[in-house]
Amino acid sequence: MQTVHNRKATKKQKKPASDRLYNHIDKKILKQHMENSDEARTTFSFYRYRSLENTQAIRDDLYRKFSALGMLGRIYIAREGINAQFSLANKNIKAFQTLTDSLPFLRGVQLKPALVEANYSFYKLVIKVRSKIVADGLLDSQIDFSKKGSYLSPLEFHAKALEKHMVIVDVRNYYESEVGHFKNSITSDTSSFSQQISLLSQRLQGKEQQEILLYCTGGIRCEKASAYLANNGFQKVYQLEGGIIEYCHTVKQKNLPSLFIGKNFVFDNRLGERVTKKPIANCHQCGACCDTHRNCQNNDCHLLFIQCDSCYGYMQGCCSGHCKSITCLPLAEQRNLRRGKKKTNRLISHTQAYVQRKVEKLGKADG
Ligand SMILES: [Zn+2]
Ligand SMILES: [Zn+2]
Repeated sequence: MQTVHNRKATKKQKKPASDRLYNHIDKKILKQHMENSDEARTTFSFYRYRSLENTQAIRDDLYRKFSALGMLGRIYIAREGINAQFSLANKNIKAFQTLTDSLPFLRGVQLKPALVEANYSFYKLVIKVRSKIVADGLLDSQIDFSKKGSYLSPLEFHAKALEKHMVIVDVRNYYESEVGHFKNSITSDTSSFSQQISLLSQRLQGKEQQEILLYCTGGIRCEKASAYLANNGFQKVYQLEGGIIEYCHTVKQKNLPSLFIGKNFVFDNRLGERVTKKPIANCHQCGACCDTHRNCQNNDCHLLFIQCDSCYGYMQGCCSGHCKSITCLPLAEQRNLRRGKKKTNRLISHTQAYVQRKVEKLGKADG
């Protein structure tokens, strides 16, 4: 009784909903609301590197303005700029552009529409202040950002990627390149961008005089990777402007065969956008041709891994027998087991080596 009473007392002290600058509605309700809505939405992304002061005040101001437009998504603000992935009702896109044009640090920002639309890309709006918009593990003094590679438009990148002896480098993580990448590109077994950066010059050792083509999802990581390489003795560094997203839009428009194959991994509920028909990855459990990412159903694991429908059914969406046995326990018992442990995020990035250790192999599943 005491606990219930205390909880009520805390509730009373809470600010009214309109003053709370964060989502306070349960995700299940938001999901239901989205499923019942027939409002057409578009998923977008943008980023801008710009020196910002008072990031917390900017964050609060943007939360008020963006939520008034019904924006859903994930936005990071740091002293180095802003990075945003979000969805908007189509009827509010114009108002959003008017709003960004009224803000000096967002004026003229280009919105990149997603390759494949799905209303469920986001259910809530989260805006966070972070130390960096892309965690790179570097000190500001380590890189001179005025010295970086040259931009290539999607068509220029396409032409260059077809030339011989071109070094094409994917600066994304393993779990992203595993389901989709440019043909003949160098991918790596990394689970974070800071890991990628720390290995980059080592991996490209001896190629300092060669032409290097960098790419990532939307261009934001290439800005840093290209500056890092240019600062470390690489002479001919190029970066794909607008990233895979812009490239795929362009080749589709121009009816060119895509040199990017598979799926474009995205960091929202969709987890991926199909670019070419045939999956280039395999189920981590039975090896069948598959590129469906799932999060392990055990709330204490949540590992992101590739699982075909057949293994999903057999393993009840779990990565191992251990996780499956936990999900079979009553919910109260599962909660007990998790008590005191750090909450795991739904999307857990991983390296290939980690996933091989963790995921239980099942042998080829039938049909
Ligand atoms: Zn399988
Ligand atoms: Zn698991």
